[in-house]
Amino acid sequence: MHPTDFTLRGALDAMAEGIVTSEALTRAHLDAIAALNPRLNAFITVMEEQAMEAARESDRRRAEGLARPLEGLPLAIKDLFCTKGVRTTAGSKILRDFVPPYESTVTSNLLRDGAVFLGKVNLDEFAMGSSNATSAFGEVENPWKRGNDDGTRLVPGGSSGGSAAAVAARLALGATATDTGGSIRQPAAFCGIAGIKPTYGRCSRWGVVAFASSLDTPGPVARTVEDCAVLLGSMSGYDPKDSTSVDVPVPDFAAACARGVKGLRIGVPKEFRLDGMPEEIGALWERGLGWLRDEGAEIVEITLPHTQYALPCYYIVAPAEASSNLARYDGVRFGLRQDGEDLKDLYERTRAAGFGAEVKRRIMIGTYVLSAGYYDAYYVKAQKIRALIKRDFDIAFRDVDAILTPATPSAAFALGEKQDDPVAMYLNDVFTVTANLAGIPGLAVPAGQDRLGLPLGLQVLGKAFDEETVFAVGAAIERAADFKALPQVRAFAA
Ligand code: GLN
Repeated sequence: MHPTDFTLRGALDAMAEGIVTSEALTRAHLDAIAALNPRLNAFITVMEEQAMEAARESDRRRAEGLARPLEGLPLAIKDLFCTKGVRTTAGSKILRDFVPPYESTVTSNLLRDGAVFLGKVNLDEFAMGSSNATSAFGEVENPWKRGNDDGTRLVPGGSSGGSAAAVAARLALGATATDTGGSIRQPAAFCGIAGIKPTYGRCSRWGVVAFASSLDTPGPVARTVEDCAVLLGSMSGYDPKDSTSVDVPVPDFAAACARGVKGLRIGVPKEFRLDGMPEEIGALWERGLGWLRDEGAEIVEITLPHTQYALPCYYIVAPAEASSNLARYDGVRFGLRQDGEDLKDLYERTRAAGFGAEVKRRIMIGTYVLSAGYYDAYYVKAQKIRALIKRDFDIAFRDVDAILTPATPSAAFALGEKQDDPVAMYLNDVFTVTANLAGIPGLAVPAGQDRLGLPLGLQVLGKAFDEETVFAVGAAIERAADFKALPQVRAFAA
């Protein structure tokens, strides 16, 4: 077995048994990155020297009996997490040369537990997008190919496209990601891996470059549900530096994966049956419900009546917060600066040169919906709808333990497709945004393939801070689906 083929759990066990060292694991991943990154463009920055040094230190600690929970595991870090002394770009030209003097809380937690960072991975600019195509560092290619391979290059999804492509192509055992409207779950589904957006407040946002602060949620992607559970356990925890971090205990998420679903009530929201949804997506959803029923769960039809307003609501709230958050990139304090004739001219030139088209579009929409004349008509209205969407879930969860839906309305699409049609692009998030608006956890699990062999995912939604049930249901789906297909482009493919 090649070292890049281990699951994260498998690699931990193999290191504990002395079958492989972190140095060998890390070397194998760095070699895979060197071989494949020129094509996939998943990594923006490779931390070769730091990674090898950290791996050797991990091996020393293990030899001394001082192994920590993630000792020696090579991971990729979305380039939205500040890493001390390591360039952090947010996929934007405006932060192209930004080297943070501090480490984000989530990445500090991973380092505390012994993880090895391979490098920083690509993303849509400031995490705005569903295809990774808005990155100032270029597109990422999905390692999966259509079965009738006509040479079409597919998107890995976004915004965490680099994270998902790297993990699917075996360039890392797992990765950090963030989800504001679907950016963990949609790329995970497009790349045939698992990913969880935990409850808002479970993982600290401190040191994560802000997009829409009331929605942004750090979380992991990995090749198995259990691997996600292991990573989330490390990433989670109360952080006084983030005022929205919640002080609740971090349960043993990995143990929850083995619980099974017997006796659980699983909701099926009828509003998620979209007109024109591909038949394959509906069929996969039915199969997923069947698997859970076979394992002893009870399937219950539920209603989430405000679902149809979720996308418009999200595309007001998220740009509003983004326009405010991104005001800090003014050319004065950090990042790119374009000198001007006076201060205002400097701001304008810097922002015109530093931001890409999608980011500018969001800033304009956000500024508009927050402007004095439209604030009540758009922003306040969206806030009210958001409250109703959350209430829909509160009511539904009185009756069910978890909800099963498709993760995305389609499989991965071609690079370039939908790029000139923002509304078509925004439709990607139709199944995922409600969880962000409501703050609840959502897990994407690979569950099948479309007729061209591309991966399709199912989504498990749960109650706030009940990730354990979400993991239990996700792991049951994973066992039943027995998804074994591999992407065509991967490290050391036979
Ligand atoms: N695709 C959504 C957007 O463009 C979500 C992105 C995200 O979750 N970061 O806003």
